[in-house]
Parts: sequence; C-alpha cells; structure tokens
Amino acid sequence: MSEGIIIVDERGQIVIANPVAEQIFGYEKDGLSGVDLEILLPLRLRARHMTFRQGFYDHPQPRRMGIGRDLQALRKDGTEFPVEISLSYTKAKGQLLVMAFISDISLRKKAEEALKRSEEQLLVYAAELEKKVEARTMALNNTIVKLEDEVRERKKAEEEVRRAFEKERELNELKSKFVSIASHEFRTPLSAVLSSAALINQYKDKGDVEKVGKHVARIKSSVVHLTSILNDLLSLGKLEEGKIEINKERIVVKEFLEEVREELLETLKVGQDIELHCTPEGAEINSDPRILRNMLFNLISNASKYSAQGKKIFLSCDQQNGKVEFHVRDEGIGIPEEDLKHMFERFFRASNAGNVQGTGLGLNIVKRYAELLNGSVLFTSQYGGGSTFSISMPL
Ligand code: ADP
Repeated sequence: MSEGIIIVDERGQIVIANPVAEQIFGYEKDGLSGVDLEILLPLRLRARHMTFRQGFYDHPQPRRMGIGRDLQALRKDGTEFPVEISLSYTKAKGQLLVMAFISDISLRKKAEEALKRSEEQLLVYAAELEKKVEARTMALNNTIVKLEDEVRERKKAEEEVRRAFEKERELNELKSKFVSIASHEFRTPLSAVLSSAALINQYKDKGDVEKVGKHVARIKSSVVHLTSILNDLLSLGKLEEGKIEINKERIVVKEFLEEVREELLETLKVGQDIELHCTPEGAEINSDPRILRNMLFNLISNASKYSAQGKKIFLSCDQQNGKVEFHVRDEGIGIPEEDLKHMFERFFRASNAGNVQGTGLGLNIVKRYAELLNGSVLFTSQYGGGSTFSISMPL
C-alpha cells in the first residue's frame, strides 16, 4: 500500500492504522492505535471535523473528502502537511467502522506551487517581453518613418538637382544655338549696311540721288531687322530667367493700334500698307502695353516678311465674351500643311521660309508673352494664300 489507511470507530477512536499511515503522521509502530482521530488534525480544524464525522456516520457513503479545498493534517511533531483523503466504511460485529485512505501530497503540492510560481514568473516575463517588443516595434516604426522621410527628401533633392541640370543644359543649348543663329543673322544685315554705305559714297559723288535714297532705305531696313533680332534675344533671355515684369495699365485699343501702325509703316516692304479696322470704337483693355506692342510688332513684321511687295496687311480688333482679339492678316506665302503643328516651337521655321531672314524665335516669344498676360495666340493659314494670327486677351 502506498496510501496510509486508518480505521476509526463510531466514537472517533482509531482502531488500527497501517505502517504507511504511521509513517505519514510520524508515529512509531502502533502509535496511532486507540488515539482520537482529531489528534491528526490542526487544532483549529478539530471542532468542525467532529461535526463532519458525525454527519458521515449518519449517512455513510464512500466518497472523497474535502473536494474543492485543501485538507491539512498534523504530524506528531506539530508540523502541518497537505493530504488527500477518501472515505469508505465497513461493518464489523455490528459496529460501523470508517476507513480513511490518506495520501501525503506535500511533494505534489510543492511541485504544483513551484509550477504555479514559474508559470506566474513566465507570465511576468512574457508581459515584459511583450512590452519590450512593443517598444522595439515602435522605435522601429519611428525609424522606418524617419527613413522614409529621408528617402523622400533625398528623392526630392535629386529631382531638383536633375531639373536644375536639365534647365542648365537646355539654356546652354539655347545659348549656343542662338549664338550661331545670331552671328549668321547679324552678318547679312551688317554687310548690307556696310556695302550700302560704301555705295552711297560713290553715288553721292556721282549725284545719283535715287540710288542714294535706295541704299539709305536698305540701311534702315537692315537696322530694323538687327533691332528686332536683338529684341527677340533680350525677350528670350528675360523670359528664360522669368524676369519679365508686367505693368498693366488702361489701354484705349484703337489709339494704341494706330501708334503701332505708324511705327511699323516705316519698316514695311515697298508698296505694303497696314489697313486698320477696330471695333468697338472706344474699346479699352487693362494690359501691359510694352508687351502687347512687342507681340504685335512680331506678328506684323512676319506678315510683312512673308508677303510680297505691294501686299496689304490687315490689322483689326474686336471684342467678344469678355475678351479683346487682335488679328494680323496677310496675303502672303502661307504655311505648308505639314509645318502647322510645329508653329510656336522655338527655332522652328517653315519649309517655305526660304531665304527670308529670321531666327524662328518670334512666334515662340509671342506665345509666351500671351500666356504671361493670361491670353492666347491662334492662327489660321492657307499655303500660298496668306495667314491670320490672332491674339486673344482678357479685358
Ligand atoms: P522668324 O520669322 O524669325 O523665322 P517666327 O518665330 O516669327 O520666326 O516664325 C516662325 C516661322 O513661322 C517662320 O520662319 C515662318 O516659316 C513661319 N511664319 C510666321 N509667320 C508667318 C506668316 N505670317 N506667313 C507665313 N509664315 C509665317
């Protein structure tokens, strides 16, 4: 038997105990026989136990004792220890004898408690670990966010540098292209000025007034052309650097166009004229007259350049839908169908431009000026049948 067995009579006296029971409770051999059962219980539990014992005698029935609570027993040396007890009974010589099967569960309890303690410890560790993981995750997330920010910043900076490089490259390209065009375009009018000046000297001595007049006109038109190239160059430079200052003022359109006409008549080809037609009579806009003049100069000088001597140029204005429109129409060479889509591109010259002098910058500048003033430029053209360029400006 690994269990202690104690048999108790109706008065609660131990009849007999097996050696395991004696050993569990720390008694010598036969030391338990004849003693009161309650001696094996801690003092504080004895009274209650006696009531229980009475209850069992009244309704005897095999069962476990103290289900759901820990049973404490008392050794002979006064120390307490946990036990598990099953009860049974038997009758002998008309007497009811109760049998108690007792196991010392000190070791098991200790193990259980140790287990419980280590489980608790484990829970504490787990909680600490969880906290640490949380903290780490948070730190990591922060680092990731910071890194992402950094990467974004870097990308932005790189993009800016790239754009700056690109712009620089474009500007350099533009400069070198312009230098080559300008040096070519300057040479022709300059040599015309030089040769005309020399010829004037000769004709002056011969008294040929008509020839002198012709060469003075040639010098004039060369100078006008040089000026317009220079103007384009300056405009382009300013546009590229974003340095165009806009100074809007009230402009009476008709008066303004009359001035433009007067100024430009001088520069037209022989027999060309500008016919002006402006409605409504008193139309006014709020815009920058310098820029507007520059745009119209460009369009009108194109109209003159790309039409033959003696052809008329039609300058008109009208007003609709809160906008003023300026139209410059010519009866010149027009623009070939396949070139239409490239108009306004920087340096573009139509295939029929031939040896008409030009840089391919004017229209691009006109368009950018128009955009600066919240306006737009449109055109229609008939190859061989003339063109109309229109500037549309908000009132
Ligand atoms: P440029 O006249 O100096 O060449 P523009 O930018 O003013 O430069 O014009 C670009 C091109 O558009 C011209 O070279 C020409 O081929 C074409 N063009 C412009 N205006 C007219 C026009 N009124 N009639 C025919 N072609 C034109």
